Amino acid sequence: MQQQSRRWQRDGKTIAFVPTMGFLHDGHLSLMQQGRRMADHLVVSIFVNPTQFGPGEDLDAYPRNIERDLARCEQTGVDLVFMPTTEDLYGPEYETYVTLEALPAHLCGISRPVHFRGVATVVTKLFNIIKPNMAIFGLKDYQQFVVIKKLVRDLNFDIEIIGAPTVRESDGLAMSSRNAYLTPEQRPSALGLSKALNQAETMVASGVLDADTLVLKARELIEALPGTITDYITICDAETLADVRRLDAPVVMALAVKVGRTRLIDNRVLIPAV
Ligand code: AMP
Repeated sequence: MQQQSRRWQRDGKTIAFVPTMGFLHDGHLSLMQQGRRMADHLVVSIFVNPTQFGPGEDLDAYPRNIERDLARCEQTGVDLVFMPTTEDLYGPEYETYVTLEALPAHLCGISRPVHFRGVATVVTKLFNIIKPNMAIFGLKDYQQFVVIKKLVRDLNFDIEIIGAPTVRESDGLAMSSRNAYLTPEQRPSALGLSKALNQAETMVASGVLDADTLVLKARELIEALPGTITDYITICDAETLADVRRLDAPVVMALAVKVGRTRLIDNRVLIPAV
């Protein structure tokens, strides 16, 4: 991979990169299509990164279908699919990790304490291997996007980070590889996340600017649905992810909810009317 990237660089070609954990859906494909448009070459990685899963999380159960993924990459015009093994990236003596000080203290980082250390480490490694000019990340994983932007700025990576909008099912559910875990009976409850965000958007448009009120209403909507356990519902600053009490500028409402055993996340930018 490093040799191929060096050759492309030597020929003056640009490289766009889309990191994934596979089980590709239309959300991943929209990132790839954007990358395809922006650079001479498009590299996609498929790697279920063990260091971003905590003990008891779904590392072993994570859905996989490499053949279908490769077919979808080919149809989307991907030049190279990078599929390292765990041993390739983490040898037996592995000991170097990348950690951020403040951003992981919010949102998903609270219930997933090693997650962003794993993400920052693997993305750093993939950037060093693939040497892209730009990398595309989904805004569905909003905290991940902010973490990567910060990582790139703090460690002086010469890589442009692009955020791509969330692709949804026709019923509003944000696409996710983990949606494969949901039973048909759980789907109406899974829709609670996007419905709660829609409700908040409507309330903000009608002049509600108090974050606690918006969060309480979202919590009521979600917890009325069977099988849901709220991890967090937060309205936060779009860059620092610190809690916001009153909406006097655009903010992000983010939430994580377990439906049965499946942990789902979603978010929305809320823009108060002026
Ligand atoms: P994953 O395979 O879940 O690690 O996701 C790989 C990339 O796809 C990440 O940048 C995600 O944010 C992005 N992604 C996942 N789901 C969606 C979606 N529904 N819409 C847009 N991007 C997504």
